[in-house]
Amino acid sequence: ITQLLEVTNLSVSYHTYAGEVQSVRGISFDVKEGETLAIVGESGCGKSVTARSIMGLIKPPIGEIKLSSEIRYRGKNILTFTSKEWAYYRGGESSIIFQDALTALNPTMTIGDQITENIFAHEKISKKAAVERATGLLEQVGIPDASKKLKSYPHQLSGGMRQRVMIAIAFACNPKLLIADEPTTALDVTIQAQILDMIRSLQVKKNTSVMLITHDLGIVANIASRVIIMYSGRIVERGSSDDIFYHPKHPYTIALLRAIPKLTDKSKEKLYSIEGRPPDLLDPPKGCPFAARCPYCMNVCVEANPESFDFGLGHTASCWLHHSQAPKVEWSI
Ligand code: SF4
Ligand code: MG
Repeated sequence: ITQLLEVTNLSVSYHTYAGEVQSVRGISFDVKEGETLAIVGESGCGKSVTARSIMGLIKPPIGEIKLSSEIRYRGKNILTFTSKEWAYYRGGESSIIFQDALTALNPTMTIGDQITENIFAHEKISKKAAVERATGLLEQVGIPDASKKLKSYPHQLSGGMRQRVMIAIAFACNPKLLIADEPTTALDVTIQAQILDMIRSLQVKKNTSVMLITHDLGIVANIASRVIIMYSGRIVERGSSDDIFYHPKHPYTIALLRAIPKLTDKSKEKLYSIEGRPPDLLDPPKGCPFAARCPYCMNVCVEANPESFDFGLGHTASCWLHHSQAPKVEWSI
């Protein structure tokens, strides 16, 4: 399997009146051709900033990608792309679906024009062929009466339908890389499942790599081949779906697993939630970023950022509990 995207030592800061917020702090990962990689973490962990970096949406002078960072798409560093290369890459080779379709869509343009506009930006094809493709796309994302719906405006559609339109736009140019940033968060549970199924079937048909970004570890179980857990701008654990769900090694991952609502929970019992808040990234702690919330916190944790411990086959976790001299702890989920 070849690598489509390779992110190396990505660091991103935002310059605010209060100072420099270090949103992403030196993360590295790759995305392989055709796979689904999930990036999971609470809001503010840096997952959306990572997505925006890959799409070239970090705008200086407020946003800054540090010079040591590299984002290679098919071996080429996109951070050195010319504007022509960006135009080819963004929306064509790669595309993104956001959580809120209503703000991402243009309220003054019909659905049909928004889909064909993206096609024309990347391909030289006739108006007729573009409209035909747009109709086909709407059918594929399960929008009834597709040729009629092309003439609708975003506000005339329900939230679920708008999200389908976003998916149609995102797939319009057969992207190799699709980033889905909380694509179902605003939707109710049954529609969430339909939307994820839809992304999945288009992905398989077109051999697209998908980066699924979410705060909800529960939705990635049956979808992602690999999972990255982010906390406080860092990757704290990564592994296959099985590693993460059945052999988690980081206390934060365990907390996220406990926060997944169980299908068997018929009671309105309060969901487990993680006490406390992530650290302030204006002034990140020198030790483990999870220390203030971690039930297993040791002295070393506040003194030094944990190294990454390797469990084989790409499963790693940054937690001092895996040091040979740490006390053994047992947990259940
Ligand atoms: Fe908890 Fe320490 Fe592990 Fe951090 S390094 S997650 S504080 S045990
Ligand atoms: Mg976000």
